[in-house]
Amino acid sequence: MDRRFQCTKCGKCCLGWLPLTLNDALLHTARFPLALVWTPVPQGVRAFAMTARLGLSLSLNKRRQIAALVTPTAYIPPSFPCPELTDDGLCSIQANKPLRCRTMPFYAYRDEADQAELLVPRKEWACDTTAAAPVVYHNKQIVERTDFDQERKELLDQAPMMSVYGEYVIKYMPWVVDSLAAIVQKPGGNVVTSLSSFLTAIKQFDVAAIAAQQLPLLNAYAGKTADDSALADYHRNYTGWATEMKYLATAST
Ligand code: SF4
Repeated sequence: MDRRFQCTKCGKCCLGWLPLTLNDALLHTARFPLALVWTPVPQGVRAFAMTARLGLSLSLNKRRQIAALVTPTAYIPPSFPCPELTDDGLCSIQANKPLRCRTMPFYAYRDEADQAELLVPRKEWACDTTAAAPVVYHNKQIVERTDFDQERKELLDQAPMMSVYGEYVIKYMPWVVDSLAAIVQKPGGNVVTSLSSFLTAIKQFDVAAIAAQQLPLLNAYAGKTADDSALADYHRNYTGWATEMKYLATAST
């Protein structure tokens, strides 16, 4: 069956968290406050195999296995627009926007055959799905697939590094595994860890330069979230991560 879809550039999908490939996250360290978002998936659900392939699988005990995606993410509160969204609803970095923005509404973290429901616009989104829109999905295959294939390739390429980070977290941050175990049965549950923990675990990036770019962003978002009790978790994370980035910006020079 054919599915039609066209973006009308309403900007409504440019709010809140923006998942990024690692390449895109590193390309935009001066633009977005970054974090690692862990999304657990229990054994037995459709997304398990793809999640384990792109992320990692964890044994909670002898009988329970879960998979977890670990996604570099522009960590922006859900009510906040992307910092690159202009007042007239356009993207200020159109030529260099992340793969996630290019691939929308398709989702490279899912099987290609499992994308149809993503072509139904969410409430308040103005996407065109009428007969005037082009066919973008035919017989469960994406018609124009260059960006989707590139995003999937980057996710597969980064998977070994995410596994290394996963091992680090299991060893030094066991609360993450406990939190994943607690939320794995709740659809949409996430755990968030800091970019600084990722940089410390992987040890192959210019940590001082990245930290120097992240520090003013984290401080700015800490300021923007300071007076809103609904964003207390965000404020606490930005503040704590700014302290860690300040240390990394100087300790690694
Ligand atoms: S980078 Fe551009 S397209 Fe992507 S979320 Fe931000 S404004 Fe939207």
